[in-house]
Amino acid sequence: MATDQRAVEAELGKMLRESGALREGHFELSSGRHSAGYVQCALLLEDPVRARRLGQWLAERLGAFQADSILSPALGGILIGHETAAALGVPFRFTERKEGSMRLRRGFRLRPGERVVVVEDVVTTGGSSAEAAAVATAHGAEWIAAGAIIDRTAGGSPFSVPFESLLRLELPSWPPDECPLCAGGSVAEKPGSRGG
Ligand SMILES: [Zn+2]
Repeated sequence: MATDQRAVEAELGKMLRESGALREGHFELSSGRHSAGYVQCALLLEDPVRARRLGQWLAERLGAFQADSILSPALGGILIGHETAAALGVPFRFTERKEGSMRLRRGFRLRPGERVVVVEDVVTTGGSSAEAAAVATAHGAEWIAAGAIIDRTAGGSPFSVPFESLLRLELPSWPPDECPLCAGGSVAEKPGSRGG
């Protein structure tokens, strides 16, 4: 039943173009790095049918890990994490930042030994997923794998667990002091939740 990887990549590429989610310009990513390209996954996921398909594809990739639940860092991971959990038939929970640190709130619980897969929309440095995973292990759960719609890590997974993504996107990014666009005099835009 597994959908062919190339077919997924082609279909996802089409979705990115159609939704306008892939933007060009000068951006400061949530990791702090600067880039000439940005993926606004909120636009990719605004069509629920599209979101559901992405969740089903990610669930196919992650199914072998036999997760007890999916955990996602708010806000970016919530939609795709929920769709993935729905496709796997397991509970979904999210971590959120409160006073600077990532936490499990709203009465969500993880039991000791629970097999948790952390799902995010886009992984660049993997910081948010790693923080969510740290919350899981602090609750005694077991972090078994990571998943994302888009892998922007440029080939080197930042995780100590297996990492599955639907598409590897090679969009160069730089530390701000090495950014050629800043050097050219333009100012980086912070897209993120501001929706710019
Ligand atoms: Zn820059």
